[in-house]
Amino acid sequence: DAKCGEKLEGVNVQVVLRCRPLSEEDEISRTPTVVTCDELKGEVLAIQSIGNKQTERAFVFDKVFGPTSQQVDLFTQSVSPLVSDVLEGFHCTIFAYGQTATGKTYTMEGGGKMAKNGELHSDAGVIQRSAQKCFEELEAKRAQYIMKVSFLEIYNEEITDLLSSKKWEFLDDKSTRRITLMEDGKGGVFVRGMEEDIVYSADEIYKILENAATRRHRTANLLNKHSSRSHSIFSITIHIKDISREGQEIIKTGKLNLVDLAGSVNVLRSGAGEGRAREAGEINKSLLTLGRVINALVDESSHVPYRDSKLTRLLRNSLGGKTKACIIATISPSIHCLEETLCTLDYAHRAR
Ligand code: ADP
Ligand code: MG
Repeated sequence: DAKCGEKLEGVNVQVVLRCRPLSEEDEISRTPTVVTCDELKGEVLAIQSIGNKQTERAFVFDKVFGPTSQQVDLFTQSVSPLVSDVLEGFHCTIFAYGQTATGKTYTMEGGGKMAKNGELHSDAGVIQRSAQKCFEELEAKRAQYIMKVSFLEIYNEEITDLLSSKKWEFLDDKSTRRITLMEDGKGGVFVRGMEEDIVYSADEIYKILENAATRRHRTANLLNKHSSRSHSIFSITIHIKDISREGQEIIKTGKLNLVDLAGSVNVLRSGAGEGRAREAGEINKSLLTLGRVINALVDESSHVPYRDSKLTRLLRNSLGGKTKACIIATISPSIHCLEETLCTLDYAHRAR
């Protein structure tokens, strides 16, 4: 395991942990908490009682954000440096990983309240804050650039486009556009049929998020179930004009992928029904593949199993080589979530 802050060769992966506060219902019913966060030490303790014996397990992360942590803290400390790297031409990917309802979407997309008069709401998530930072820095540098965004969803190993807004007005539930992944034969991937919007301000990005959220509400009648079983990938690509040391004009391309992963599923607990079990199997398979890909990259293994899932195939160009990644593992402090919490802590810890 790499130590906190230690520089890794090749791919640089940072793993941070965020523990949400108890929900209002949990507060009312006085649900016991079994997780304590030490933000200074970057350590999480999970307390497990078996019979009348208590065992405590400790997990260390690059950074720990406790239940009272604010969106701005997580962004400033763990995401903002990667956004700066993107502007220097890196490919960076942020993943939110965890059980359903632990705050993945809250962390990435925010609490639903949007920007007002150009000011971000304190609930605004990683996507809005990243967008804002990109534009602010580019404007400050008076850079010449083109910024494009795409927004995809992977559900049951099928990719759909969450962006194509105009078409949605005329189409019904089945209107999601199918996307195909093609290998370019040089180790890269090409996404056929994917829409990319050129954006000129952070406001446009906030609007795109809002529109996509509304559309998802309209199309998925079982929104929560659907969104908790799909991965969503919001990507920002920036081409920046720069001058090389030799005085030549060059174009730097940076890319930021913001990934809200499907909720990790405990197959045994996911209930009866072969359909559900298969679906849970697919989700776990893609999350396991992601874990294996990250481990292989960190270990500089010669075989990286990108091909084993759509998600890793899609992100192939952004994982490996001159890239950085940050995994935000999300957990709940509730006693009812302990089993899943331990799975999340184990998964996230292995990724380091
Ligand atoms: P997930 O995407 O992991 O399924 P959500 O982000 O939808 O979970 O979170 C579930 C609910 O809990 C939402 O209503 C969200 O606003 C709330 N929530 C999650 N994390 C936090 C947090 N850190 N602070 C305040 N509310 C949160
Ligand atoms: Mg979610």
